[in-house]
Amino acid sequence: MTKNLLRFRAIETVFDRDKDKVVKQESKKITDYFAMNVFTLETMRDFLSDDVYENVLISIKSGRQIDRVMADHIAAAMKAWALSKGCTHFTHWFQPLTGATAEKHDTFFTISSNGKAIENFSGGELVQQEPDASSFPSGGLRTTFEARGYTAWDPTSPAFLMEIGEGKTLCIPTIFITYTGEALDYKAPLLKSMNCLEEAALPVCHLFDRNVNKVFPTLGWEQEYFLVDEALFYARPDLVMTGRTLFGNPPAKGQQLDDHYFGTIPERAYSFMRDFEKEVLKLGIPVTTRHNEVAPSQFECAPIFEELNIAVDHNSLLMDVMDRIARKHHLRVLLHEKPYAGVNGSGKHNNWSMGTDNGKNLLSPGKTPKNRLQFLTFFVNTIKAVYDNADLLRASIASAGNDFRLGANEAPPAIISVFIGTLLEEVLQDIQDRVGDSTKFTEAFKSDLKIDLHNKIPNLFKDNTDRNRTSPFAFTGNKFEFRAVGSTANCAEPMIVLNAIVAKQLKSFKKNVDALIKEGYKKDGAILKELSNCIKSSKSIVFGGDGYSDEWVTEAEKRGLRNVKDTPRALDAYVDAKFVKLFKDCKIFSESELHARHEILLENYLIKNQIEAKVAEEIAMSQILPAAIDYQNRILGNITSAKNVGLVDPSLEVKSELYTNIANGIKGIVKSVEKINTDMEFADSKDETRSSAIAYYDRVKASVEELREHVDFLEKWLDDENWPLPKYRELLFIR
Ligand code: ADP
Ligand code: MG
Repeated sequence: MTKNLLRFRAIETVFDRDKDKVVKQESKKITDYFAMNVFTLETMRDFLSDDVYENVLISIKSGRQIDRVMADHIAAAMKAWALSKGCTHFTHWFQPLTGATAEKHDTFFTISSNGKAIENFSGGELVQQEPDASSFPSGGLRTTFEARGYTAWDPTSPAFLMEIGEGKTLCIPTIFITYTGEALDYKAPLLKSMNCLEEAALPVCHLFDRNVNKVFPTLGWEQEYFLVDEALFYARPDLVMTGRTLFGNPPAKGQQLDDHYFGTIPERAYSFMRDFEKEVLKLGIPVTTRHNEVAPSQFECAPIFEELNIAVDHNSLLMDVMDRIARKHHLRVLLHEKPYAGVNGSGKHNNWSMGTDNGKNLLSPGKTPKNRLQFLTFFVNTIKAVYDNADLLRASIASAGNDFRLGANEAPPAIISVFIGTLLEEVLQDIQDRVGDSTKFTEAFKSDLKIDLHNKIPNLFKDNTDRNRTSPFAFTGNKFEFRAVGSTANCAEPMIVLNAIVAKQLKSFKKNVDALIKEGYKKDGAILKELSNCIKSSKSIVFGGDGYSDEWVTEAEKRGLRNVKDTPRALDAYVDAKFVKLFKDCKIFSESELHARHEILLENYLIKNQIEAKVAEEIAMSQILPAAIDYQNRILGNITSAKNVGLVDPSLEVKSELYTNIANGIKGIVKSVEKINTDMEFADSKDETRSSAIAYYDRVKASVEELREHVDFLEKWLDDENWPLPKYRELLFIR
């Protein structure tokens, strides 16, 4: 029995923290510093001559290749700006498949041929770099003797300054590819998927509006996270090593009272939020909302939506900055999807839509009948795309962490369905009923239908109360909200898939509409007819009921919707012939790239599970078991001494029971650990990564859960002062 346990020292540290000594935050208007660390077009203009600037602008807007001469000009401008801000180094900033962001800093400083020290940054250095890439995952795309990976400048995302302490680095957003151009990151395929979507959406837009020249997806993410004090974090080896607690009983008071949600933000958290928000605002990330989430110590932050590629960069950047600033506050950000069992997990809702260069949101119902038909077109095609490719969407959100969330009784289920609200369900039903199988319809009919939509759609906005929080993919007035995305995810993964499947669907829609027009349909008639076909064939994915209920699982099965619960099996979609063809047609991934990514994702899953199993075993054997035996000895000593002095002990029976309970717990731990080891040996002996990953899911994970049951059981019985790990109530409520 010792108060010297790290747990108690950690608690003391938290109590002793000078809570008033929060980082000074001067209150300036946000507009005074927003994007001050970004090399925006406006900034660029100050550093370039007018004609070079015009040229650059055209290139960036049209996606035209930027030539070497122009790159030299831009590099010089960037360097001048960066030096004026006190920068000494630059880095190509990229998002490899490890899930983190990566950077390799180089200095501007060099020695010129005449031996003089100068600051230098050429177009060549801006455009391409060759980081030592051999340790980034490549899924076999790069053999070690050819370990080169290249980063290539992405001019569509502005360069920015990263301030870390006194150090300032110019970060240049790049894509990361092999020597032969295969993607090793999230960004390259994301940009390709955006092109593909634009290519497919433009001709469909032109059915309604000839003046559209550009279509781009938009993304507004909502990032959920937990905060925990750094001292408590360090006293939990599982949090340190795996990002989640492998053991621990939910506290008596969890989230049942719902008193945390939208409640007052605790002061330390508030101070942290203001601090990191300021940092990210300087980086041009337009964060606007912050609030408590459902669980204690859980929070959310969300920005104004942006063009997709910028939004993806901004979310990756935000996760980095949050982590860094939290440390300054002696806090840790937990981005894991399920840090605590029995407590709400964290997601990252991806609000997705499509915008045009003339300022329209293609998923906004609009005011005129023409706009409504355009809205319905993009709306229905998205639903059809989700229906046809649900497995691929499911794969895009699969990860070891997210497995704990999907289908657990609090997050959207692993069944992909679409929520659209009763009004829109009626509208779609109307279209289907009236257009149905009829081969032609009269003018009267058409205006009829339009009037009907006209009457219903204004009510849509009032219908926002009809928001269903249990749906993995919900229409929320003027955008779709993909809610099943995990909190650690790189948004690019689900967004690549969404862009690709909607692009494919829009292409086929346009083709069918054209065919109908050839058959003699008028344009609007052809569109309605094809919409009706899409509605009819994809209707079963639309679901407005409670996605968390058991009835839905049964109902979904009847509808033929799949419920893939685990990552290794969900990932199969990436190498399914149907989807390989889709990605190839969309020019996003080649078959070998898909196989490589599949391999990387499986490996990632496997390694995470391996680490969890090892950490669980270590904690159970080296921390829990000794504590249990210690307490057992004390009980035994107590019983024996009473006997020795000849006392009749009325509590003897209870003590024996306690002793036996602890003994059972100890035995359970040892047995489970043995089982974990056999299961791991079995899983590791498989030749293929997929079989190995499946064995980890089916067997090892279950054994680790079993071990948890014994440890959590002992937590209930053991002397609190002897328990080595900070308990849930301490992790969640001491701040
Ligand atoms: P909540 O879902 O929490 O009720 P909102 O509906 O206000 O919040 O918006 C959620 C997110 O959706 C915000 O990040 C917002 O920027 C984003 N959003 C709004 N319009 C669009 C759009 N057209 N495209 C993408 N994201 C959007
Ligand atoms: Mg939301």
